Amino acid sequence: MEEIVLNLHVHSTYSDGSGNFHEIAQAALSAELDAVIVTDHNLLLKGKDAFYYRNGKQMLLLVGEEVHDMQGSPGNHLLILNYPKEIAHLASNMQLLINEANHQNAITILAHPYESEMKAFNVRAFGWDQWEVKGFTGIEIFNQMSEFKNRSRNLFALLLNALFPKRFLTEANPKALAKWDELLNAGHRVFAFTGSDAHQSRFKFGPIKLTLFPYLTHFSALNTHAYLPQPLTGDLEQDRSLIYTALKKGKFHIGLDWVYPTKGFEFKADYEGGSAYSGDQLIMNQSATIKIYLPVQAIVHLLRNGEVIGKWDRRVSIAHTITTAGVYRVECYFPVQGSLTGWIYSNPIFVYKGKNDGQ
Ligand SMILES: [Zn+2]
Ligand SMILES: [Zn+2]
Repeated sequence: MEEIVLNLHVHSTYSDGSGNFHEIAQAALSAELDAVIVTDHNLLLKGKDAFYYRNGKQMLLLVGEEVHDMQGSPGNHLLILNYPKEIAHLASNMQLLINEANHQNAITILAHPYESEMKAFNVRAFGWDQWEVKGFTGIEIFNQMSEFKNRSRNLFALLLNALFPKRFLTEANPKALAKWDELLNAGHRVFAFTGSDAHQSRFKFGPIKLTLFPYLTHFSALNTHAYLPQPLTGDLEQDRSLIYTALKKGKFHIGLDWVYPTKGFEFKADYEGGSAYSGDQLIMNQSATIKIYLPVQAIVHLLRNGEVIGKWDRRVSIAHTITTAGVYRVECYFPVQGSLTGWIYSNPIFVYKGKNDGQ
């Protein structure tokens, strides 16, 4: 299995971001990412997927889209990846949009589902309220700019957060996590995504020019770690397919890499039929062994159906036998300046019981 690091949900000058594709690619190369996925508002740029190179390192820039209904209520932003053509004209009917995307095996992600308005600054919230939709691939449980909005209730907090971005990136959004568990418990195969929502916004106050969260800051903070069956090849079609297949199937984790690089994290379940990884389902007869490996010591929570069933402190590996069916996932926490920071969020393994379990 090959692990690659990518950042998705990035805005360019084609919508309201301040950097062009070249600048975004350079920041991604500086952050040593393997791929970056740009999603501009209601705009799909075709033929812009490309490799960028620097100092012998290659980075793949892919282009998706963030679709929302310009005529409807604010919010309900849907990321669409791996869809071959412009689809924003369907934005007034999100279910139709999701169905059409699924028809083409595209990826649909509910973006920043829970965010607060910044009343003091006249900035609206763009959360999700169309919870009746079904069939989407995933939900952003950790959107960097949403967390900035959620935690910048006054000017003092806003300035501190703008100056020290690591201050507000401390955990996945609790409401989004709870909603994700609710969806999983209702039997939906929905995966947890992270979006940087990077804009690298530029402001001018008289002679003072300010850049809020450069792309590099986003790309060094919170990333998607995708598990591929083979290394990237340098062939555009093949690599695009490898990455989108992993994202579509839940074969990735979310890592707050600024705390400590999360590369090397592994979550699997060994059972009679072999090994299952995040995004997989397995059918066990008697039991299975959950195995978790970390790149450095941390606090590990194993969850079943949204409930913590195991906690381990300062461990780098865990083996835990399970005998009960359910949706299993892992959260890891890391102590930062005296408090625990949400460090790794896995996607789930879906465990079912076989007919020969004797129960
Ligand atoms: Zn949005
Ligand atoms: Zn966005």
